[in-house]
Amino acid sequence: MTTPAAAANPSECGIQVFCRIRPLNETEKANNYQFIPKFPSPDTISISGKSYTFDKVFDPSCKQEHVYTGSAYHIVQDVLSGYNGTVFAYGQTSSGKTHTMEGVIGDPEKQGIIPRIIQDIFNHIYNMDNVNLEFHIKVSYYEIYNEKIRDLLDVTKTNLSIHEDKNRVPYVKGATEQFVSNPEEVLAAIEEGKNNRQVAVTNMNEHSSRSHSVFLIQVDQEDKQDQRKKTGKLYLVDLAGSEKVSKTGAEGSVLEEAKNINKSLSALGNVISALAEGTKSHVPYRDSKLTRILQESLGGNSRTTVVICASPASFNEGETKSTLMFGQRAKTIKNVVVVNEELTAEEWKRRYEREKEKVLKMKQMIMGLEAEVKRWRAGEKVSESDWAASLNANQMTESSLLTPSSSDALMMSIAGAEVPMLTSRQGPITDEEKRKYEEERTKLYQQLDEKDDEIQQQSQMTERLKQQLNEQDDHIKAMKDDYEQALQDLQRYQTENETAREESKEVYTALEELALNLDQQKSEVQQKSNEINELGDQLTQKTLEMDTLAEQLDELRDHSQTQGKRVHDNVQNILRELAELGGTYVIPEKFNSDFGVDKKLDEEMFTHARICISKLSSDYKSVLSKVSNLETGSGDFAKKLETNEKELSECRLQLQQMEVKNKSLHDEIAELEKSKRTLESEVDQLSERVAAGGEAGDSGEGKEQHLKQLTQLRDQIAEKNQQIKDLTENLQELRVIRDQLQTDYDKLKTDESEKEKRIKSLAALSDKREQAKQDLKGLEETVGKEVHTLQNLRKMFVQDLAQRLKRAPTGPEPDDEFTSSPAQRQKLIFLENNLDQLTKVHKQLVRDNADLRCELPKMEKRLRASMERVKNLETALRDTKENAMKDRKKYQHEVERIKEAVRQRNLARRGLATPQIAKPIRPGQHYPVSTQVSRPAVVNPSA
Ligand code: ADP
Repeated sequence: MTTPAAAANPSECGIQVFCRIRPLNETEKANNYQFIPKFPSPDTISISGKSYTFDKVFDPSCKQEHVYTGSAYHIVQDVLSGYNGTVFAYGQTSSGKTHTMEGVIGDPEKQGIIPRIIQDIFNHIYNMDNVNLEFHIKVSYYEIYNEKIRDLLDVTKTNLSIHEDKNRVPYVKGATEQFVSNPEEVLAAIEEGKNNRQVAVTNMNEHSSRSHSVFLIQVDQEDKQDQRKKTGKLYLVDLAGSEKVSKTGAEGSVLEEAKNINKSLSALGNVISALAEGTKSHVPYRDSKLTRILQESLGGNSRTTVVICASPASFNEGETKSTLMFGQRAKTIKNVVVVNEELTAEEWKRRYEREKEKVLKMKQMIMGLEAEVKRWRAGEKVSESDWAASLNANQMTESSLLTPSSSDALMMSIAGAEVPMLTSRQGPITDEEKRKYEEERTKLYQQLDEKDDEIQQQSQMTERLKQQLNEQDDHIKAMKDDYEQALQDLQRYQTENETAREESKEVYTALEELALNLDQQKSEVQQKSNEINELGDQLTQKTLEMDTLAEQLDELRDHSQTQGKRVHDNVQNILRELAELGGTYVIPEKFNSDFGVDKKLDEEMFTHARICISKLSSDYKSVLSKVSNLETGSGDFAKKLETNEKELSECRLQLQQMEVKNKSLHDEIAELEKSKRTLESEVDQLSERVAAGGEAGDSGEGKEQHLKQLTQLRDQIAEKNQQIKDLTENLQELRVIRDQLQTDYDKLKTDESEKEKRIKSLAALSDKREQAKQDLKGLEETVGKEVHTLQNLRKMFVQDLAQRLKRAPTGPEPDDEFTSSPAQRQKLIFLENNLDQLTKVHKQLVRDNADLRCELPKMEKRLRASMERVKNLETALRDTKENAMKDRKKYQHEVERIKEAVRQRNLARRGLATPQIAKPIRPGQHYPVSTQVSRPAVVNPSA
């Protein structure tokens, strides 16, 4: 670090302020905002009638190059001459700060001040004549965001601190200093910084409008011939938007940020106000990081240029005015600049000699003055020509200004600090003291540095901890979110599960109902099928019956046919016979065709026919008799039944009589038992009396009487006993009879039931008989018809015979056609209807069954689908959980990867940076490729 040279002619220079008004942008045009500024002169801008004067005003038509040459070009020269320089752009967001400072890097027309300055610094060096000069250029790039300094050339340095060097000049400690040997390297560094700026920034536009970016170029030069060293530091600053927070619509943490950024800007405003007023002893540089960094640039040792950028739109009038006011205030600030030069020992010696001479002269002057004072005090009037001060006033002023102590004081005042200890004492200081002071100062600086380091470490640690805390918070938040999400998912799945369960339950119940229905239907089907079977059985029975009837019918038909045939045969025979008998009779055509005979009839044939008819009638009669026999048989049966019933009733009567008799006998027995008991008691009494009589005296008559009585009584008893015996035997017999009667009764009962059965069967038979009767009637009718036909035939024959030669009309054809009886037809129709109905019912049942069968797989399918859904939901839940876990792992892995990548990158850069050897840049060494920047003339820094 070079020390400002004590004798380097510090000169006062004001901050240069340029004003740049950009053109109306598209939005402003679209909103029809008016273009309000007026430019009455090249250095004046007027808004709403109020004029603001600056070093120069650039209207919207001004090109980048013009702005550069007009405002910043001279700084290149200053920096290469060993002065500090600062260019910063101030203005609201979108007012053109970045456009002015950076522009489009690489675009010869649109590039801004920074790339042009860089290019020019190198061009100047390359074009220098002094080949003894050697330059080392290093660059730093950092941003101040939310009162934190972040190194843009090393993203790991997120919170750098500001320290002061031994000259009490603030600097950012630990900021990466990258050596560069050509403009391309500088631009690459800027590009890298810009890229890094975007890392971990969500909204770049918002971020850039709220952060201050500082690009520092430090140019160290050494004259190899006389070892003179100079250092020039150039700060190129793109400030955050100066608009009011309220206008940005910021809220919450964003508002906090905005306040902090505005804190920096308001601190800048305060510093500028304090410096502008010039009355305040305290300048609040320490209020913000920005003002601390720009301490030298504002009221210090720096040639400072401020470009205030503003919008011309009426909408931004307030902001534009405040920007212009800021520029006006800044314009009043005066800096004191000196060349940062490091002197060689010889130079110091030379200067020491010079100073010594000056001191001598001063001493002489003081002595002269003291002598003059004495003379004045003594009341002597000293003539003006003898005044000691007038002798060397100019010299005095000059030398007083240039005394080391005063120059030091000046330097300290530049640094904005109190006068250092070294300059507080009057008179020459000894080498010992100087050494001591130096040591003390070094120690103090060391302590300060240590403290700074400590503070830095602590703050970094705090930062790290804060970051960890934030990360933990984020982690916890993410976990909480995940957990809540998972819970929500779980709840959702549970509810879904519940609904699915409900559904499945419903399905189950529906299925159960269906199963029940099915069972019912099945049982119904079973029932129906049983019914069908029964009906089928009935049907078969009926069909069997029908068959039998049909058979009977067939038989009857056959019978009638045979009858008819026989009739025909007979007729044929008769006719044949007739033909044989009488040759003249012509058989009617029908008979001719039927029998194929043409004959003549005579009486014999008639007799034959009669015989046949009588035969037939006898047959018929026999049939009738059969029928009547059957009828009489059934009548006999009924009679038999009646007699049986009569017998039964008689038996019942007998039984009742017997029972009555039995009862009376029982009563008789009971009475006999009673009398027997009285007799026995009488016998006992008598025997007692006999015994008493024997004891009293033997009276022969009484004894005999008694004995007689006794024998009588005994006889009576025997008789009675005999009677009882007979009666018992009688009773026994009666019982046997009764039993017999009972058995007879039972037998009769069974007989009766059997008979009833038989009656029933007989009734059925009678029904059948009725049927047969009807059939027979039908047969009779047919036979009657036949007979009628035969009679007709006979009549015909008679007529034919009577007419003889006349052709008889065609006789009615015997009815061969069998027409079933209407009852049968009805029966058939009924059966058919029944069958139809049954078929319908059967079909319906089959359909129902089929429907149910169709529905059953559907229901089963639904159930299966529900089960499947439940399963799917469960698997989905599991999958979601797994995915969440996987995502988290992936996310953590990604974070780790990014961290690692950033670390590797930084390591690589540090690896590159560490062995970076500062390549010296020498005049005439390299001629730049792009020299688009218009330069006035090549400047000699030594000039
Ligand atoms: P700031 O840095 O102040 O937020 P920018 O420099 O990003 O604003 O400018 C905003 C927009 O206006 C950019 O698109 C830029 O190209 C354009 N702009 C700014 N100043 C000018 C100008 N003098 N001429 C043309 N366009 C400009």
